[in-house]
Amino acid sequence: MRCLITGGAGFIGSHLAEHLLRLGHEVVVLDDMSTGREENLAGLGDGGRLTLVRGSVCDAEAVERCMAGVDAIYHLAAAVGVFTILGKTLESLRTNLDGTETVLEAARRHGVPILVASTSEVYGKNTADGLTEDADRIVGSPLLNRWSYAEAKALDETLAHLYGVEYGVRTVIVRLFNTVGPRQSGRYGMVVPRFVAQALAGEPLTVFGDGQQVRCFCHVLDVVPALVALLEDESAHGTVYNLGNTEQTSIGMLAQRVIAATGSSSTVEKVPYEQAYGPGFEDMERRVPDCGKALRQVGFRPRRSLDDIIASVVADQRGATG
Ligand code: UDP
Repeated sequence: MRCLITGGAGFIGSHLAEHLLRLGHEVVVLDDMSTGREENLAGLGDGGRLTLVRGSVCDAEAVERCMAGVDAIYHLAAAVGVFTILGKTLESLRTNLDGTETVLEAARRHGVPILVASTSEVYGKNTADGLTEDADRIVGSPLLNRWSYAEAKALDETLAHLYGVEYGVRTVIVRLFNTVGPRQSGRYGMVVPRFVAQALAGEPLTVFGDGQQVRCFCHVLDVVPALVALLEDESAHGTVYNLGNTEQTSIGMLAQRVIAATGSSSTVEKVPYEQAYGPGFEDMERRVPDCGKALRQVGFRPRRSLDDIIASVVADQRGATG
């Protein structure tokens, strides 16, 4: 098969490219290199089966150029990371809305199935212990920049759903919960690579807020096979799946675990949200998935624990720094 991965030079996209190449497929990557990096695709041993196209998902011609002979699309390209969203809010909104519609249009014209990557952010402030796919969304004011990411992704889901219902496009939507692993950069806000980099540098770990907020971190290598399984399974199409780990940690506890795993002499520094993200920021207190639907559909069962995840990010950053 020939697969198009939008955002394929990014963190999750590059792991997906590697996985598809290993399965023997050809891969076309469309990436505007905003947060993607060519190094992420270096050394994948692609044997000439990987093509990198630099371009934006908002550029219909660039998308069209990638479509020749494509049998499946993984739409991962997006403006991501809280710092990106807060720093370039309007541009991010446009990328995340227009880009998705442009790629869905290409899927429709070419009759190709498409996976659309969404996010646990769509649940917003719903703190239910075990969010199922039909859980209510509780989001703050549309005038608070933070929520623009959740709003755009929610609309992307609606678009994908309607392209399925009204145009017969074979679509599957996944909501990714705090996916982590090698190659993820802390530059855009993601907490695990940030804490690991801080610990390795002997700098204080910056815990935002009181550190009581709860997240579940899932290793990217647990997520990637599920993306492929869901798109290949026609009976999975037309709906949405949570993909994440259910092991909970508070962010304060995460900081302690990173310090222990690295043997660092770093301390923990609590940083008020306002200082970290600017005024009017609302965080999610708790975000815990229920992934029973993906388990029943494709046997999704993450195998890597939080300690495994921290260890793999530490090894990656130690390798990268020398
Ligand atoms: N966070 C933190 N310190 C950092 C970066 C993030 O305490 O240096 C917190 C952030 O406020 C949030 C959690 O860690 O409560 C997870 O942040 P991330 O941006 O990785 O993912 P989110 O769950 O917000 O999408």
